[in-house]
Amino acid sequence: MADAHWLFGDQLGPHFLTADAGGPRPDAPVVMIEARSVFRRRRFHRAKAHLILSAMRRRAAELGDRVRYVRAETYRDGLQEALGTARVTVHHPTSHAALRLVRSLDNVTVLPARGFLVPHDAFRSWAGDRARRQLRQEEFYRWVRREHELLMEGAEPVGGRWNFDHDNRASPPRGASSLGVPSPYRPHEDSVDDEVRHDLDAWERAGEVSFVGRDGPRLFPASRREAVAALERFVAHRLSAFGTYEDAVLSADPVMSHSLLSAPLNLGLLDPAECVAAAEAAWRAGAAPLNSVEGFVRQVAGWREYVWQLYWHFGVDYRTNNALGHTAPLPQWFLDADADAVEANCLATTLAQVRDTGWTHHIPRLMILGSHALQRGWDPAAVTDWFHRLFVDGYDWVMVPNVVGMSQYADGGRMTTKPYTSGGAYLHRMSDLCGSCAFRPTERVGARACPFTGGYWAFLHRHRDRLAHNPRMTRAVAGLDRLSDLEEVLEQWQIKG
Ligand SMILES: Cc1cc2nc3c(=O)[nH]c(=O)nc-3n(C[C@H](O)[C@H](O)[C@H](O)COP(=O)(O)OP(=O)(O)OC[C@H]3O[C@@H](n4cnc5c(N)ncnc54)[C@H](O)[C@@H]3O)c2cc1C
Ligand code: SF4
Repeated sequence: MADAHWLFGDQLGPHFLTADAGGPRPDAPVVMIEARSVFRRRRFHRAKAHLILSAMRRRAAELGDRVRYVRAETYRDGLQEALGTARVTVHHPTSHAALRLVRSLDNVTVLPARGFLVPHDAFRSWAGDRARRQLRQEEFYRWVRREHELLMEGAEPVGGRWNFDHDNRASPPRGASSLGVPSPYRPHEDSVDDEVRHDLDAWERAGEVSFVGRDGPRLFPASRREAVAALERFVAHRLSAFGTYEDAVLSADPVMSHSLLSAPLNLGLLDPAECVAAAEAAWRAGAAPLNSVEGFVRQVAGWREYVWQLYWHFGVDYRTNNALGHTAPLPQWFLDADADAVEANCLATTLAQVRDTGWTHHIPRLMILGSHALQRGWDPAAVTDWFHRLFVDGYDWVMVPNVVGMSQYADGGRMTTKPYTSGGAYLHRMSDLCGSCAFRPTERVGARACPFTGGYWAFLHRHRDRLAHNPRMTRAVAGLDRLSDLEEVLEQWQIKG
């Protein structure tokens, strides 16, 4: 009989069970372990716990008699209960902790990772050639495009350009409260959702676990069928509008034309290869413009792959980087996603989205939540933990580089060339949030001063010595000398202690 094969909860699509390239044999029994300790250890968004359990239980139901589904305290206990010391294979898991665990178990054979376009060894040889230089996302992305023949015409990018970012940074349409694109796919709940809700209620009542956020109707796919429907709907109805307003924010239209595919991708329900292939096919069929299709392919084949590889490349200690020496604790309102406790409209609106859905798009994550944390000098490890727990698509591999590197600049610039933060003027230009806010984006001192504008200058001042040496920040830092009211700005916004 074939060795059993262990599926983690983020390895749920059919491509984790195919026999090719050393995968499990078609007759291999499957083991899945629902480990309660995962939820006990940390306070997750309840909608996230709901989504993951719902997806795992659905996959188990699909696999029927082939699977042994074990509910246990820990993975180790679950594996022992399911198999004893019998041999089992598993695809390379997605976190340092899980990899350490599977490697520590004598009966487990670790197979190569799945669910990504670029194998680890291919990345290592690409990165090896560049060992002394910073690894640039743009270079990596072009290499992936060539290697996987994505949007290529021979050796050249289709349309003669690699990058349509310039076309994809439009401010939101003036006066519009929504982009007006067809709504995204949303699933219908069924008895599996009822059962999961029942269990989560019971665990909470028993005081075993504690959650944050609201567990409203499930918004994200939890099965392969639902995930494929979500991809098809995005490509057919929303992809063509994806590019132009990619960086814009509308308070009444949180999803804009984003794909909402990060959750099913990260659960392993979709393979990134099929997502980029579907987008490219839409362009080749004349159904979506190139700026949108290239923008989407850049996100999936560029950013997602890059972040995954950097997580392993930077190693296990990367999460503890704190180049800016930020140590302030996260305030309780943030920890609780208590949107009603915040006056700043951008923060309140974004936190309400997180509280209600466990999701916001990239710009609110980076330029509102992350930027505020950076300006207030919050401890980057605690910020990473918060994002991981509160977002339905948050997993260790994706959160650590995105928060430590991209959002908090805690690695001192290994991942990005400059800190991502701005004053209120940027948010005013890219959103409709400032009009109804109690603060004014142009004011940096006084009762109506925008916390982002004041916070931006205080941040630059605090890290002036470091940032003055960064060619992409010298102009911004020089701006400090032109502020006639710098002392008052610092009096109001400088972090005390
Ligand atoms: C502070 C911060 C935290 C983030 N945390 C996560 C996270 O936990 N999980 C996550 O999947 N993404 C994360 N991102 C990246 C990005 O914001 C989300 O992938 C995206 O908003 C998900 O919505 P979407 O599927 O509609 O994305 P779209 O805008 O439709 O983009 C398409 C796809 O591209 C991929 N993608 C784009 N950018 C990134 C990126 N930087 N890293 C990884 N994948 C990317 C995602 O799979 C996404 O589904 C984070 C970004 C920041 C700045
Ligand atoms: S004025 Fe400042 S605080 Fe208010 S919404 Fe705009 S950026 Fe946010």
